[in-house]
Amino acid sequence: MKPDDLRRTLEFYRDIGVKTLYRQKATAKTRKAETVEEVEVKQPGAAPVAIDLAERAEQPAFRLPALAPTGDTLPGILADIGDCRRCRLHEGRNKLVFGVGNERAPLVFVGEGPGADENEQGIPFVGRAGQLLTQMIEGTAKKEGIELLRADVYICNVVKCRPPGNRTPEPDEMEICGQFLYRQLLTISPKAICALGGTAARALTGRKEGVTKMRGKWTDWRGIPLMVSYHPSYLLRPYNQDAKREAWEDLKKILHFVYD
Ligand code: URA
Repeated sequence: MKPDDLRRTLEFYRDIGVKTLYRQKATAKTRKAETVEEVEVKQPGAAPVAIDLAERAEQPAFRLPALAPTGDTLPGILADIGDCRRCRLHEGRNKLVFGVGNERAPLVFVGEGPGADENEQGIPFVGRAGQLLTQMIEGTAKKEGIELLRADVYICNVVKCRPPGNRTPEPDEMEICGQFLYRQLLTISPKAICALGGTAARALTGRKEGVTKMRGKWTDWRGIPLMVSYHPSYLLRPYNQDAKREAWEDLKKILHFVYD
């Protein structure tokens, strides 16, 4: 493991309250693979966890760390984030954008990262793209005979601080912040997740294809059905009629799956 990766992993364990790490000797299997290392983490009341670094090596440049403390809660996660300075994105932060909505929502939408309006208000998806998302959720539900308001779902992002100029978050920023998204999703444990746009899709699925290829089909995130769809910002651009129609289709599928 590279020193930077090791530092981030150890910081992650510290953040979630792991006090002791035991490193086991490589087994025959791990020696053969060379990149595999088994790490057992002992935490009071928690089962040991094995991390297969060979598996990690085959993944894209980042992935959400696979560990959450037992009895995790959204306020606890927010407290662990604290006055976060773990990555460079904190430098331009006005408000940290943690997530909003029903803490027991059966449906979670995951976007990329806060924009200017979200950075001002500390609430995800409140700018133009957010207003479109709200209209899509509430409008589609109504048309489909499902009683649903934005407040009934949960909405959050891969990164909690606004990337400068709304640039795409860097892999290390997503990995560092992704630990908290991972814990949010595990804590809420929704019936389905909708990844909005390529960044959220890649962060949650580990796949590298574009949205057009991934959208509209069920896949899963740690056993929770996940569907990728277009990011509302993309739908705001002109000449995207096909994408708009497809996005409504995706949402209909998701809503019927979750609420029927
Ligand atoms: N775009 C996102 O991905 N998330 C927001 O919260 C706002 C815009």
